[in-house]
Order: sequence, then structure tokens, then C-alpha cells
Amino acid sequence: MKVKLRNPDREVEVPGGRKVHDLLGELGISPDTVLVIRERELLTREDRVAEADQLEIRPVISGGSGDNRMKCRRCKAPAIVEIRRHNTAFCRDCFLRHVHEQVKRAIEHYHMLGPEDRVLVAVSGGKDSLALWDVLLQLGYRTDGLYLGLGIGEYSTRSGEVVRTFARERGAHLIEVDLERDYGFDVPTAGKKGSRSTCAVCGLSKRYVFNKAARDHGYDVVATGHNLDDEAATLLGNTLRWQTDYIARQFPVLPAEEGLARKVKPLYRLSELETAAYAFLRGIDYVVEECPLVAGNTQLRYKQAMNQLEATSPGTKAQFFLAYLDRAAPLFASQDDATLSPCERCAQPTTGRFCAFCRARAQILGERLGEPPAGRNEIGERQLVAETADEVMPAEIYAAGRPS
Ligand code: AMP
Ligand code: ZN
Repeated sequence: MKVKLRNPDREVEVPGGRKVHDLLGELGISPDTVLVIRERELLTREDRVAEADQLEIRPVISGGSGDNRMKCRRCKAPAIVEIRRHNTAFCRDCFLRHVHEQVKRAIEHYHMLGPEDRVLVAVSGGKDSLALWDVLLQLGYRTDGLYLGLGIGEYSTRSGEVVRTFARERGAHLIEVDLERDYGFDVPTAGKKGSRSTCAVCGLSKRYVFNKAARDHGYDVVATGHNLDDEAATLLGNTLRWQTDYIARQFPVLPAEEGLARKVKPLYRLSELETAAYAFLRGIDYVVEECPLVAGNTQLRYKQAMNQLEATSPGTKAQFFLAYLDRAAPLFASQDDATLSPCERCAQPTTGRFCAFCRARAQILGERLGEPPAGRNEIGERQLVAETADEVMPAEIYAAGRPS
């Protein structure tokens, strides 16, 4: 059928035989901004139109160019990013400001960072962590980056390049750790040789290295780029299994213990779409490809499930996670009852004699974990980092890919 659009005038051909609502949807027009006219009658969004009908769609907004594009909530300029869960949209500048405000709000609400803190931002080369580093630099925090080379072929090569370029362009300091060079194995080998799945060793190694690098180099805080989608998917996984101790530890800030860095997730209020749009608009070159080893990962399926709910009920994801933080998290706090003591080999905390990382590494390298190294001061080295031990990592997420 023929549809005449006005202001600016143009004509389009679209299929008829459906409701006005669906037709407008296809044209990307909000029903509240136009009159839909057939002959001399007005139609509502529930009316049906036939193939033979001729329609005119006439904008009702006066005083402007008459186009139906969404307007920025703040400044009324044409919007470029829509955030359905807030029922709002922003132009470029106001969107960038919105992202900064959400991060500031997260930081203030949980006292994540202070102006004097030395912050180590774990950057993978993906959109989230680079966006996070960019925001924290702009907000004036004392940040350095940490990149961990995982040895996942071309994917890791490109990730490393992207992170180095980002740091160089901003004159920021980047610490690099390489699993193969510094610990003797890479992630693909680990997945084949050890008893843990690839994702499990990878997750374990990251948490271990983040914490160790922060301790070795004297940082107060480790910041990661976990976003709202990540956190909602993790919470969904933990809730489906009622893993109450994991639920208890899923918090945007984990306070420092003696000699230990705090862990913070300043992007927990922003969706994946928002962090991607932010990175794009700021001209950040990031690795768009996903890790080639992660296909079919359990967390990915939880993300898809959350997105399905979100599609029909915008705001579900934020409601689920943010209301958990406000109302449910305190109820789970008592479930975090792991007692940890220093690993006899590396002094990172563990629930057993040797930490999960040392055990995994020994297995991969075919070594035996022997007597503890001599001369170590046990009391002074005592640390609590719940999330670096695999015992406290959600098997649902990190054990994905393990043959069942
Ligand atoms: P992931 O565990 O891949 O979901 O990533 C979660 C967060 O961990 C990212 O937002 C980064 O902050 C950090 N991260 C992941 N991979 C790396 C890496 N190779 N090097 C440094 N940080 C990383
Ligand atoms: Zn250890």
C-alpha cells in the first residue's frame, strides 16, 4: 500500500493488511506524534488498514522541522541513543554526560573510589573495560591499566594491541602480565590439560592475577568493567541454583582486607548497549569479536534469557539486579561464611592448603605441590580474597563448557 509521509513530504510502499500500530512500528514512528489519515477519517493505532488503502501520516509536533525523530530528554536536540528502560533518549553530549553521572552515582553510593586511591583498571580490550578506564580518567581518578595476556591466538594479540594503543594515546600507564611468560601456561593449553574447563581456568587466572598485581604494585583498588547485563545474568544463574554464598558475594564493592585491594564494579548501573554506545561515541577502538573459546557459555544463555524478558518488559533487568542490591543482598550477607587462610605456595587466600590457582597450575604443568617454601611469615601474609578461590566462583558460569 501507498503511504504518504509529510513534512518533509515523501511516499513509501509498505505491506497493508495489518494494524496501524504495526505499520508505524515498521516505519519507526511513534503513534503519539502523528495523525494517521485515510480519506477524510482519522485512524487509531488499533485500526486495520487494507492493501488498497491510501494513508497520509502527518506529524503533529509544531514549531520544529516536523520530523518524528526522538528528542534528547535534556536538551531536545535530535536523540541518537534510546534507553528504553528509562523511557528516554539522549543526544551525543547528553548521553556521554548520562554515562558519567551513572558511574559517579555508583562510585558515591558504595564509596568505591576516593581521589587519593591508586586504582588498577583491569582492561581486556573489550568495550566495557576501556569505556570504564576512559570515564575514570576523565573524572580525574589516579588510574593505571592492567592487561592480562591469555594466549588465545589472534584474539589475544588484537586485544593486547587495542589496549596498548588506548593507553599510549592517553599517556596512561599500562601494566602487562602474560600467563604463558609469567606462569608457564596459556588458556587454550590449560583447557586441554587441566581438569577444569577452559572458562573456569581463565576466570580463575584473571581473578588471581588482578589481585596479585594490585598487591605487588601497591594499588588500593581493582576496578573491572562488569556491566548491568553481566551482573543480572550472573545473579540469574546463581538464583536459579540458589547458590546463596555466591549471591552473598555478588556485590559492586568488596572491601579491602589487610594488605589487599578493594574490588569495584563502577559500571553496574549501565547496560551493555550503553557501554558499547559510549565506547563508539568516544572513538574508542575496541575488540568487537567475542572470545572464540566462549561459544555456548552458560552465562551467555542467561544473558539471552534476560534480554527476552527485557524486550517485552523494558526495565526488568535493572529491576532484578538493582532491587537485589537494595533489598535482597542484606538478607544473604550471612551466607558468606568461607574461612580462608593463605595458600602455602603463594600466600593468596584459599579454603584449603593450596589455592585453586596453584592447584590448577600445578596440574597443567604436571608438577606436584610440595612442601611450603621456607621462611614465609604466615600471620603477616594472612589474607582474605573470597573471589580469587575457585571454591567461591559460580560453577555455573566458570565451569561452562565442561563436558557433562
Ligand atoms: P569477563 O571475565 O571476560 O567477563 O570480564 C570481566 C572484566 O574482567 C572485564 O570488564 C575486565 O575489567 C576484566 N578482564 C577480562 N579479561 C581481561 C584481561 N585479559 N586483562 C585484563 N582485564 C580483563
Ligand atoms: Zn597459591
